[in-house]
Parts: sequence; structure tokens; C-alpha cells
Amino acid sequence: MSYYITTPIYYVNAEPHIGHAYTTVVADALARFHRLLGEETRFQTGTDEHGEKVLEAAAAAGLPVKEFVDRISARFRQSWDDLDISYDNYIRTTDPAHVRVVQEILTRVHESGDIYFGEYGGLYCFGCECFYLERDLVDGLCPDHRVAPTYLKEENYFFRMSKYQDWLIDQIRTHPDWIRPERYRNEMLAFLKEPLEDLCISRPKSRMAWGIPLPFDDRYVTYVWFDALINYLSGLGYPGDKAYEKFWPAQHLIAKDILKPHAIYWPTMLRSMGLSPYRRLNVHGYWQMATGKMSKSLGNVVEPQVLVARFGLDQVRYFFLREMVFGLDAHFSEAALTNRINADLANDLGNLLARSLGMAFKYRQGVVPSPGDPAPPDAEVVSAVQAMAANFLRLFPGLEFARALAGLWEFIGHLNRYIVAAAPWELAKQPEAAGRLDTVLYHLLEGLRWIAALLRPVMPRSALKMSEQLGLGLALWDHPLPQVLRWGGLTPGSRLAKGPALFPRIEAADQ
Ligand SMILES: [Zn+2]
Repeated sequence: MSYYITTPIYYVNAEPHIGHAYTTVVADALARFHRLLGEETRFQTGTDEHGEKVLEAAAAAGLPVKEFVDRISARFRQSWDDLDISYDNYIRTTDPAHVRVVQEILTRVHESGDIYFGEYGGLYCFGCECFYLERDLVDGLCPDHRVAPTYLKEENYFFRMSKYQDWLIDQIRTHPDWIRPERYRNEMLAFLKEPLEDLCISRPKSRMAWGIPLPFDDRYVTYVWFDALINYLSGLGYPGDKAYEKFWPAQHLIAKDILKPHAIYWPTMLRSMGLSPYRRLNVHGYWQMATGKMSKSLGNVVEPQVLVARFGLDQVRYFFLREMVFGLDAHFSEAALTNRINADLANDLGNLLARSLGMAFKYRQGVVPSPGDPAPPDAEVVSAVQAMAANFLRLFPGLEFARALAGLWEFIGHLNRYIVAAAPWELAKQPEAAGRLDTVLYHLLEGLRWIAALLRPVMPRSALKMSEQLGLGLALWDHPLPQVLRWGGLTPGSRLAKGPALFPRIEAADQ
């Protein structure tokens, strides 16, 4: 079983912000999760470096374009290293290997007759770097940029996308989960009710030279989307490398603003190349700022490093996955982040760990006790954790992170109530209750072992620290998750290790 997850390659006309960070953290959590299942996993991210907007941004920065893209690409890479992103491959569309693959594919598609030369006059938005149809405009303006497009008439190369419209509709209809969540699938089916136009895939060098030259006409460079989408193949060493055989088809992860290129252009391109479609297109919503949609001009861009320095890496990762229902928009605010950290992490999980470890040291010298026969409340702990874990293993790969984590936190609440009901501090006063105290402590520690095991993809460092306190460390994940998640994994007689509080509270005065 293999698993290939990709983020979009990020366009280097701007610096990384939390929108990029969210997509990348989600991809990272999925990659880590599938590795823990024991699947051969490959995770790719990178940067998209050609096109008009990059050229403009470089000019605005007063830098030669190659120097500019090197700089911004390195900044993205540094952000992902700071966020503990476990990518296997970082691709750049200016890599010579990528350029070669794009040109090979262009040659092949051209020779097959799916690329033709023609004249096209249309409404062009320079911001979007694409032509619009009248019906796509809002009050005659580009829906994204709110500017009137320019009428442009020029000779270009076109990809016969229209030829694949019926196939694409059929593919979407017969594969209900192929584009998910469903709202985006429906959006594309609605879009495909109108005739699909062919795709202009070249730009005359006389107008814009920063791109991959067409192998069959050196007066033109390749349209940035036709170049960029191919990264998902070139990054696997397609066509010659065995990584392609092993990992294709991919699971793509994108934000909803690039749905159309991924749901329409890319599958028809793959179809024309004679390749199988990607496995899934997973589409998420936006983070809404209190001041509206995040944008440079509004000055409300949140940089991931700033957030991490202030709130902690795992705290931010947890917030991303817990707060946003995948596919829908969510609100971002420091107050919401602080609340999640204090309530979920410091109070619920942090206290459970600190109290359980504290009692194990106070009453049993930091040694895992041997459980006796379970009473009904102990048996309930076991059945609750088993049900929770089964749900988690189903929901997480299905991108229902918020629900998976909510279920895990219900179990944390269950354990906190179990402590109150069992009152170990009372049991400790009664010598005849020693066996009962052993059983209660064991159930708490073993429950925490399951929690640590499942939290590893979400909060890698904190989960490892939890596991270290349980005396297990990395050995907790020596086996695939389904084997790790069997009751009784914690060995009686083994030693625990005290550690500092995992999640310090964020004080109101800090805000
Ligand atoms: Zn536009």
C-alpha cells in the first residue's frame, strides 16, 4: 500500500502566510498518519516560479527574476522546516528536471494532435493571467481582481480540453469521492453544464518571456498552469523513475481558489497523456480574519513563524486541525487560538497527564502498576478508548480532523471524570484498596498511551514528550498504529519519567 500526498506548489509572488501554512500542516499530518499506518508514503511540496505575476513581483523588489524566485522559494522552505513539515520532496518549477518533463509532455501532446495553433480574441485579466468568458465576469469585472479585463487578440497554442468534457463529467459522476467535500464536486458538475472551452497554453515571448519555452515553437513560453500542474508527475521522476510506478496516482490537497485548474485542466491533461487520473482532490476553505479575507493590502496577513514563536508549534498545528471543518471557511483570531490552547491543551490534556503521572509517582514511585480485575468503570474506559480510536482511524484519513479530535477530547474528558469518580487520593489512604488503586492508575496511564499514539501526526513533538513521560519514547510507534492500539500495551513494572508541563497557559496579559 502506498500513499502520495501533495500540496499545491506555492506561487512565489508573495511570502508564506497562514493559508499556505494550513494546507501544508494538513498534508504533513496526513503524511505522518499514513506513515504510522505502515504505508509507504511520499509527501511533496514546493514552489511555482514562472509567470507574469512573479515577473512583476521581482521588478517591484528590484531584483533579477531568478534571484527573486530563489529568495522566496528558500523562504517557503524555511517556513516548512520551522513548522516541522516532513516533506520528502521539495520541487521548484525552475528545476531543470521539471522543465525537461514539461517539454517532453508538451511534445507528446502536440504530436498526438491535442495541441493546435490558433487565434483567439478574448477578455484577459493580467492579474489572473487568464482569459475570461463574459459569463464568468461579475458586473463586467474579474471576479477576483475587480478590474475590467482587457480585450486581447493574439495567436497562441491551445489544448483540446473540450474533447474531454464528456469523459470528465462521467469521471466525476461515477467517482463520488474523487473531488471532496461534495460541495466542490457539485460546483464542478454545475460548471461543466456549459460547453468547455479549449485551454490557451502559450504566451508570446514578446509579451512575457518568463516561462518554459515551447519545444515546438521558440516564440512562445508555456502558460503557467500547464507548467505548474505537471510538478505532481515530474516530482516523482516521471516518466522513467520507479517512484512514479509506486506512488501515482496522488492525493492532491488544495485551497478552493485553485479548484478549477485542478478539477478541470489537470484531469483532462492527464487523460490526454494517457495517464490515470489522480486518486483524490481534497479541497479546503479559507481562514477568515476578523478584518475580512486575508490580503496584503488590508495589512492582516499572518505569518506562520510569528504565530509559532508566540503560541508554540504544536499548539498552532492542533488549532489548525481542530478549529477548521475541512472544506468550510473558519474564523481565525488570536482569542480563538488562546482559548483552544488554554481549554483543550493546558486544562483537559495537560492536567490529565500531570495528574496521572503525579499520582503514579506519589503512590507508586513512578512504576507502572499491575492492574487487577476491572470493575465496571474500568471496563468503560477500555470500551470508550477502543470506540474513540476506531472512529479516529476512520475519520482522520477522510479529512474529518475536527471530528476525530473532538472524539479524542471526549475520551480525555471521560478519563478526567474517571479520576474524580475513582478518587485515587482516597484509595491511597486505605491499605485494603491498594489493588483497586493499581487498577485505576493503570487505566489512566494506558489511556494516555493511546492518546499519545493518536496525537503523533497532529502534534509530533508533544506526543513524543507524552510518550517519554510514559517511559516509551519513540518505541511507542515501532509497530503500525492498529497494532499499537491494543489494550495492555503498557508493561507493568516499567518506569515512568516526570517532565515539565506540556502546554503552558497563555495568560490574558500576553494578548
Ligand atoms: Zn483577475
